[in-house]
Amino acid sequence: MRPLVFICAFVALAAALAAASLPAQGTRTVIAVTTLIDGRGQSSRDTRIVVQGSKIVAIDPNAAPIDYDLRGLTVTPGWIDTHIHLNWHFDANHKSLSGNEKPEDAALYSAEDAWVTLQDGFTTVQSLGAFIDKAVRDRIDQGLLPGPRILTSLRQITDLSGDADALRALVRQTKADGADVIKLFATSGLGAGGNQTMSNDQIQATCGEARAVGLRSVVHAIGDAGARAAVMAGCTSIEHGTFLTDETLDLMAARGTYFDPNLLVLHNYLDNRGGFSFSTETLATIEKGIAPTIDVLRRARARHVKIIFGTDAVAGAHGRNAEEFVYRVRDAHEAPMDALMSATSVSAESLGLGRQIGTIAPGFDADLVAVDGNPLTDITAVRRVVFVMKGGRIYRNGRN
Ligand SMILES: [Zn+2]
Repeated sequence: MRPLVFICAFVALAAALAAASLPAQGTRTVIAVTTLIDGRGQSSRDTRIVVQGSKIVAIDPNAAPIDYDLRGLTVTPGWIDTHIHLNWHFDANHKSLSGNEKPEDAALYSAEDAWVTLQDGFTTVQSLGAFIDKAVRDRIDQGLLPGPRILTSLRQITDLSGDADALRALVRQTKADGADVIKLFATSGLGAGGNQTMSNDQIQATCGEARAVGLRSVVHAIGDAGARAAVMAGCTSIEHGTFLTDETLDLMAARGTYFDPNLLVLHNYLDNRGGFSFSTETLATIEKGIAPTIDVLRRARARHVKIIFGTDAVAGAHGRNAEEFVYRVRDAHEAPMDALMSATSVSAESLGLGRQIGTIAPGFDADLVAVDGNPLTDITAVRRVVFVMKGGRIYRNGRN
């Protein structure tokens, strides 16, 4: 008997070792949905999403048994916000802070903003960005803190950051510090008129070095001249783009430069004006920026520019990121499907994650958001998030 016992033990050990060496399979979960919007412009009805571990493995209307019954709801890929500022928040006196505070306050407010953003249906964000983002990003990646997947620039590069050589060194340093992306300011802000601030040389050095070290480069540009210089320099995306001309938009379409217009940030400043120290003149300029932002979004869409979904969320906007959908559809008359694609597959592609997130199909990460209603017929359904899954883990489930 002894040899048989030995063999059995050996076989059991070998089986255990084989199981351990396989990629983690995880639990199989079947989610029943009424309307599925896949992130790439298609929708289907009365189907089931099969999730294994962190991945979607099948879309199968006959999959059983049902683990989560989301019938009556609309499911889309988890939303992506390509432009937020995670560490900007209101303090106890409802005044905006972006640093210059106690370390524990900075850490806890950033964690809080990450949590409310995920609860709002956003499973991936790009923070443009502050150094504290790195600790938050890494804790979330380890599964220790609940929040969206974070990509961060860690810092912001401006015309005052140095000459071309200094800028190339700063890009390499930012990469070594652990940044996912380079953020630069090609122009002044909306309140200051949006004129080009970095020289063409500075912009070329920054975006060129970013590309050389394998990082994307996203460019704050209000006026057309700075934006055009960034497009010519091969930078990845234009943020805001309030006064882009049709010629620059055509150039972006031809070169594949992404465009990230933001409406929520303007409304948020006006709605929460008491929390920010803006002059009356600046507030008037912000208000006057809404119409050209709507206009440039419409012109960019007509010219087939790749439009992504950023909100420029600062204090007061975290957890309300989905309002950007409402502004884009209701005020700029975007087709709801276009706005949803901007916030899913197109943004994913712009982040270099187009094969991992932003689409509901086998092989993609199981990032899902379910809303009460159908955003294709009533965009305000995005305000009624019922269910959020990120990487196969459920972070919100109003159906239980
Ligand atoms: Zn910003």
